Amino acid sequence: MKRCLIFSGPSGAGKSTLMNHVLETTQYVGVTVSCTTRAPRKSEVDGVNYHFVSNEKFDDLIRRGEFIEYVECYSNRYGTLKSAVSDILKDNDICILDLDFAGAYQILAHNIVPEFNFEGVLILPPSMRSLRARLLGRGTETEESLKTRLHESFDIKNIAAYKYIIINNDLEKAKSELSWTLEKSRNL
Ligand code: ADP
Ligand code: 5GP
Repeated sequence: MKRCLIFSGPSGAGKSTLMNHVLETTQYVGVTVSCTTRAPRKSEVDGVNYHFVSNEKFDDLIRRGEFIEYVECYSNRYGTLKSAVSDILKDNDICILDLDFAGAYQILAHNIVPEFNFEGVLILPPSMRSLRARLLGRGTETEESLKTRLHESFDIKNIAAYKYIIINNDLEKAKSELSWTLEKSRNL
């Protein structure tokens, strides 16, 4: 059955790393590209990592009802276009979305777009210490944004809404747990 898996977890838990691995190794999976008003990071490409849009364009997309969910997170706005999900599902069995806790809950708790068959996958770091080390190692955060991201990571919401939980301690182990999760989800 075709399904959508929502990946959520604290910033730095390893969502992008695991998603990139899945994209490289699993043929039947695609990942949505969200819209954001955040500025691109050095390595990010418009249309690949995100659609980087202005606040005005984001408002316009809201008015036109194009989003299945949108949030304000770390002072920027992020949203998922319904068309982004249906485009992925045309060519793939599983569509993955990387959403913050609020966006994930909007969808999982309210059974939004039931035909997309959403399920939640919570990705957690083994400890706050390692989370801090990973965010520092990624080298993408200012002192201020590091503080906010670490502070907000204490606040993991609505754990019961997630069907799967993966603790990303040993990366190879987390990758194989994720492959198992994808297979299971696809074959149910
Ligand atoms: P997220 O997308 O959840 O914000 P990333 O995938 O960007 O997190 O990972 C944050 C940093 O941690 C990256 O530099 C990544 O290479 C590193 N990382 C991811 N998983 C592990 C792991 N299991 N052990 C050590 N470092 C990791
Ligand atoms: P970042 O700025 O690190 O790329 O992402 C910050 C947070 O926004 C992450 O927790 C990520 O999961 C979340 N995010 C990215 N795209 C979307 C989206 O379309 N909707 C929601 N709700 N969250 C998103």
